[in-house]
Amino acid sequence: MVEEVYKNIWRIEVPLPKSPLKFLNAYVIVGGKKNLLIDTGFNRQECKAALSKGLEKIGVSMDRTDIFITHLHSDHSGLVSDFIKKGRKVYCSKKDALDINLLRDFNRWKNNFTGAEKLGFPEDLDEYFDRHPGFKFNNTHDVEFSYVEDGEIIQIGEYSLQCVSTPGHTQGIMCLYEKNHRLLFSGDHILERITPNISVWSLENDALADYINSLRKIKKLNVDKVFPSHRNLFDYCHQRIDELIDHHHERLIEVKEILVRKSLQSPYEVASQMKWDIKFSNWDDLPHVQRWFATGEAMAHLVYLYNLRKVSLSDNKYYEFSNF
Ligand SMILES: [Zn+2]
Repeated sequence: MVEEVYKNIWRIEVPLPKSPLKFLNAYVIVGGKKNLLIDTGFNRQECKAALSKGLEKIGVSMDRTDIFITHLHSDHSGLVSDFIKKGRKVYCSKKDALDINLLRDFNRWKNNFTGAEKLGFPEDLDEYFDRHPGFKFNNTHDVEFSYVEDGEIIQIGEYSLQCVSTPGHTQGIMCLYEKNHRLLFSGDHILERITPNISVWSLENDALADYINSLRKIKKLNVDKVFPSHRNLFDYCHQRIDELIDHHHERLIEVKEILVRKSLQSPYEVASQMKWDIKFSNWDDLPHVQRWFATGEAMAHLVYLYNLRKVSLSDNKYYEFSNF
């Protein structure tokens, strides 16, 4: 589906086969001399076909189009090297841009997950890495990026798009904010109905604390319309932010309750007892990828509680958490 969702702003629905996210919203801002494509889809045939068809229908040529990548995940960044034309720019935060090119090197990419071997996964970690969609559908070639920083403005036609750094879902994720029209391209930072995955694999990174701070940062902006990367556009930005913060507070309570039942639990064990909104009745039936993200999400909540001194940790062969 291709539709004009706001004056000179188009949404291309790019299918994400086998992903519970269903599709990616790639946005095209038509600016005359210069256009901007926000995010691309996985590097797979279905995505490529939908994106090409969408661009053709809108009537924009990639010869006049720069690309903005909200964050490193391959459902957003996977087709950059196939679509970018010589002389055009690809904007992204430095942190995520480096990771996008790193994704093309399996062994170096795996180093990003140092610490994951201590989360209590029962299988060898390569079982998870091999099936990881982020690795399977990344770019065909390395990408030359133009790094953007928090506060920087990208001008496209009548729109002044301000880069807003919102770490949490990834460390380098950025939203684009248009102050005059009160528009927010929220990437995966704020989605309607679905809660973005917040995962960590070691104690060093407190992504949940970052995420909650980044939600509060966006709450200070005046936003009338949110253009998220998945599912529907919506207008109740501040209410959605409150819902997301509440959701994580409920999750923190749930994790504490799981640790009341038994001490010394690994993040994997904790994840297996949390409630997940997915179509499998049994934790053991969940595909590897789902158990991988669920465990990362459990770890993010455990690290948040640990930094607040609300849970304790015994750091043996595995991370094992208990209530104080
Ligand atoms: Zn993402």
